[in-house]
Amino acid sequence: MSGQTTTPDIKTPKTDTPEKTGTPKKKVFVKTFGCQMNVYDTERMKDLIKGDYSETDEPDDADLVILNTCHIREKAAEKVYSDLGRLKANKTKRQAEGKATTIAVTGCVAQAEGKEILRRAPVVDLVVGPQSYQNLPKLLDQSQKGERVAAEFDVADKFKALKGNRTITGPSAFVTVQEGCDKFCAFCVVPYTRGAEVSRPVEAIVEEVRALVQHGVREVNLLGQNVNAFHGQGPDGNSWTLARLIRHLAKIDRLDRLRFTTSHPRDMDDDLIAAHGDTPKLMPYLHLPIQSGSDAILKAMNRKHTAAEYRQMIDDLRQARPDIALSSDFIVGFPGESDQDFEDTMQLVRDVTFAMAYSFKYSERPGTPAAEKHDQVPEAVKSERLQRLQALLREQTLAFNHEQIGKTLPVLFEKPGRKPGQMQGRSPYLQSVYVDGPEDLKGEIVDVEITGATLNSLQGHLVR
Ligand code: SF4
Repeated sequence: MSGQTTTPDIKTPKTDTPEKTGTPKKKVFVKTFGCQMNVYDTERMKDLIKGDYSETDEPDDADLVILNTCHIREKAAEKVYSDLGRLKANKTKRQAEGKATTIAVTGCVAQAEGKEILRRAPVVDLVVGPQSYQNLPKLLDQSQKGERVAAEFDVADKFKALKGNRTITGPSAFVTVQEGCDKFCAFCVVPYTRGAEVSRPVEAIVEEVRALVQHGVREVNLLGQNVNAFHGQGPDGNSWTLARLIRHLAKIDRLDRLRFTTSHPRDMDDDLIAAHGDTPKLMPYLHLPIQSGSDAILKAMNRKHTAAEYRQMIDDLRQARPDIALSSDFIVGFPGESDQDFEDTMQLVRDVTFAMAYSFKYSERPGTPAAEKHDQVPEAVKSERLQRLQALLREQTLAFNHEQIGKTLPVLFEKPGRKPGQMQGRSPYLQSVYVDGPEDLKGEIVDVEITGATLNSLQGHLVR
């Protein structure tokens, strides 16, 4: 069933280029760990301080060092402490040269460890969780006055502060529409580090997207830990679904492509599936993690859906948009995973066929229910299963890429390629596409005839 809205077209006035500012004297070095949400947060942090700091690739050269951390991987906190050890030596050396260095730890480790970081690592001046970085300029002022600060958690405040003034780096941009997660999958720390699901109001999102489009952005990827649980307040005062938001954004003049990530199968409702069929600007690519093809493991993971329900969703999506390309995440060797459970995953992959997928060995994340389980799978078994799964997934990606040879695809060009005279863009299916062409292709959507394919990219020539 479609829930099409009757919102009038949203016109985007043509405007000028972004404002220009002088180069600030102070320098910032940022190291980003982990997921796309962290990459986005890093960009927003840089925007918040860009009046005072320009970026450097050299930590030795930086007046401010930010470690934007991720808590997903095993021993994540230990890796941060070992980086801090190296930064301590830098800070001491710079101090001897009469230069001050501020060290900030941000992101999910900052959220999870909080004041413990200040206690264990005296070199750290500032600890800011992912829900508080909007206060970074103020917190930096405080810490540069000699106060060591651990910021409090405030997601509503963060969304209010996330307004405009973004640095545009290309024709494709991420826009956070939702943060946090209430799903509590047994292996995941996100509900503990990013907090409960919170959605941004629709008007704030529209305002941000329009501003991006005015500055040349043509593709927006709506971002959230659990993006299809979006339930932001609409201009009519009602709670809007992601499907309704997508159809509304699709009316923005000169915005050509929409994507969203990351979704949970439980929130993949009929209307969102229908949107893939009735909204041409919504690209035919969906990342929909299943993690395992075994119902017993899905239950143990607290995923709250079955493999059969997932298969049905995929059938419905393909009905709505026959060319949709699918991507997923898999965890191999979750506690209690038997040979048969793993075979169920392999069978699901064979049946569904994925254009892309991420797969990992299960690793314990402290503080999650799965880390307490006694039936952990031996490392050697996990490794052997992962190898088999990855071989199958690679085969499918390569086959999908090869299927594009001989087709003509509209490609959004983003930046120069690795070789001189080469440009790189994205197909509707999110594949990297390389062609020989001029730099002014950047920001253009141009038809490309695909002539070659590898595991990681497509090659072709311009059709104009
Ligand atoms: S839905 Fe995603 S973010 Fe939420 S708990 Fe599960 S894996 Fe973590």
